Amino acid sequence: MAGIDIEGLATVYPNGVRAVDGLDLHVADGEFFALLGPSGCGKTTLLRTIAGLETASSGSIRIDAADVTRTEPGKRGVAMVFQDYALFPHMNVSENITYPLKVRRVAPATRASVASRTAGELSLDGLLERKPGQLSGGQQQRVALARAIASEGKVLLLDEPLSNLDARLRLEARTFLKKLQRDLGITTVFVTHDQAEALALADRIAVMQSGKLRQLGSPREVFAWPANTFVANFIGSTPMNLLPGQLTSASADGSDGVGIVTVAGGSLPATTASVPAGAEVTVGIRPEYLTLTPNDAAGPALRGTVVVAENLGTQSLVTVDCDGTLVGVTVPEEEEPAPGAAVTLTAPAGRVLLYDRESGELLS
Ligand code: ATP
Repeated sequence: MAGIDIEGLATVYPNGVRAVDGLDLHVADGEFFALLGPSGCGKTTLLRTIAGLETASSGSIRIDAADVTRTEPGKRGVAMVFQDYALFPHMNVSENITYPLKVRRVAPATRASVASRTAGELSLDGLLERKPGQLSGGQQQRVALARAIASEGKVLLLDEPLSNLDARLRLEARTFLKKLQRDLGITTVFVTHDQAEALALADRIAVMQSGKLRQLGSPREVFAWPANTFVANFIGSTPMNLLPGQLTSASADGSDGVGIVTVAGGSLPATTASVPAGAEVTVGIRPEYLTLTPNDAAGPALRGTVVVAENLGTQSLVTVDCDGTLVGVTVPEEEEPAPGAAVTLTAPAGRVLLYDRESGELLS
C-alpha cells in the first residue's frame, strides 16, 4: 500500500517564507491526486518536500507507512517528473529512460528490456535511438514519464506535467496520462494551476492558498460545493456568482430547511440548515445552475435585463443586470437572449450556497 500521509507539515525557506504552512493530507494507494492553487500558493514546494528536495521544517511525511521526513530523496521510493522534463540532451531515449537503473548498477541486458517495455507502454517505440532534441514536446514529456516509471518508485510526483505543451497536444497528453495512471495504478500526485486540468484528471483535488489547504475533495465536490469563496472563485471555467444577500426566512414552508435569501433583483430559495433568519451572507451560485426564462416566474426569482452574451461554444454566458448587480448565467447557444431583454433567473435551493459574509466559509 503506497499511500502518502502528511501531518502538520511546514516548509519554511531561509528567507522566512512559510511556503507550506501546517498541512495535513492523506493520498490513498493508487490515487491520482492534484495539488491545485494560484501561483505562489506553495504547491511546488509541497511536491518537492514530499520528494525530499526541500527539507520539512516541522511535521512528518510517511510513504507506504514508512516515515521518510528525514530520508534522502533517492531512498524515498518516489519518482519525480519536472516541469522542463530535465532530460539529458547527450543521451538517447533509451539511455534517458534507463538512467536511474544504470545508477543502481542494473545489468545492461535488463536495462534494455525495461527500456523497450516502458517505451511500448508510453508509445515511444521506434524512438529509442533519438536524442531529446530530435523529439516533439509531447514525446519529450513521455520520455520523462517513462524514466520516472522505469525507476519503479512507489509514488509518482509530477510538477505541472502538461504546461510545456501547446493547447492541442495538452488535451491529447491529458487523456494519455489519465489512461496510463489508471493502467499502472501508481499513486500519483501532480501539481497544476489549471483548474480544468485538475477537474479532468484527478480522483481528488487539494486546493491550496498561502501554504494552507482550503478544500480537499473530488472534482465534483469542489465544483458543486466549494467550501469557501476562495475555492468558489478559483474553480470553474465561468466564475461562480457571489452576491451579497440576507436570509429573510429561515424556512420557507416551515419544515424542510429551505429558506428564502434576498439579493439584488429579487430572491432565491436556499438550504438553510445552520443559518439563522436575518443573517447577512454571501450567496454563491454557479452560472450553470441558474435557469433563464423570458417570462416571469412564480416563487423566488431574480429579475433583470440582459447586458451582454458571450459565446462559449455550445453554451453562451449571459450577463444579466439585476438591480445594479451583474449575474452570469449559461444557456444553450440557440437560446441566447438579445441585449436589453427582460429576463427572470431561477435556481433550485440545493444549488444556492450560503457563505459567511466575514470568513467566506460555507454555511449551508
Ligand atoms: P507556481 O505555480 O508559480 O510555481 P507554487 O504554488 O508552486 O507557484 P511555490 O513555488 O511552492 O508556489 O512557492 C511558494 C512560496 O515560496 C512563494 O511565495 C515563493 O515566492 C516562495 N519560494 C519558492 N521557492 C523559494 C526559495 N527557493 N526561496 C525562498 N522562497 C521561495
